[in-house]
Amino acid sequence: MCRHLAYLGPPVTLAQLLLDPPYSLFRQSWAPRDMRGGGTINADGFGVGWYPHGGAEPVRYRRAQPIWSDPTIAELAGVTSSGAVLAAVRSATVGMAVLDNAAAPFAEGRWLFSHNGVVRGWPDAVVPLAADLPIRDLLTLDAATDSALLWALVRHRLRAGADPGDAVAEVVAAVAEAAPGSRLNVLLTDGRTVAATALGHALSLRETPDAVLLASEPHDDDPGWRPVPDGHLVIATAGRARLRPLGWVSSTPG
Ligand code: GLN
Repeated sequence: MCRHLAYLGPPVTLAQLLLDPPYSLFRQSWAPRDMRGGGTINADGFGVGWYPHGGAEPVRYRRAQPIWSDPTIAELAGVTSSGAVLAAVRSATVGMAVLDNAAAPFAEGRWLFSHNGVVRGWPDAVVPLAADLPIRDLLTLDAATDSALLWALVRHRLRAGADPGDAVAEVVAAVAEAAPGSRLNVLLTDGRTVAATALGHALSLRETPDAVLLASEPHDDDPGWRPVPDGHLVIATAGRARLRPLGWVSSTPG
């Protein structure tokens, strides 16, 4: 299962966030400490999206190769800083395409999105949900993957003006019901707030007075990390995180 993280707080370099910590996302690409539901390494791509200072819309860099084999990310990460970042390393689910476009974060306007997990019974299980989307959205999916479809479902609600926490909780609930046993850890940010879910996979949270970090696994031994209980939604801004039960969890992820 992929690994992902979201950060809001004072500007840091991408290197400080993604490369330098002892159990960084970079390291998690070949030595994750907590893989579940198949897969051992996260070598099928990576992506990072960040909000430039003063810019409303994020910039992205995504590749369909292991993060350790890309020379550009190390150079870029050393000289790029931001106070809002969403990044992921990918372990493609069996049968799903390995392409730049299949790597998170997915994006539109000011939004960035990532999914860590799998939709069980893909794609048949979610055909009824996909049927609610305009055909244009289906024809322009980033990739033919479960994560890209989840993003299309969330994006559809955001376009209609939904609250980001509601959009995420609603889609996760609908997919969990249609595809029992799915693992649905998602991250959604606009650079000011992060909405995150923990369902079927680990998610950890570290709050400091002026920053918040959500990650699939703690990237250092700081005692401030705490696990987000399974079946919860997190709404976080820099320095403040609120948790609430998703409330409808009925099936054990497979
Ligand atoms: N199923 C998604 C994909 O193939 C996410 C994979 C993961 O979390 N390992 O991209």
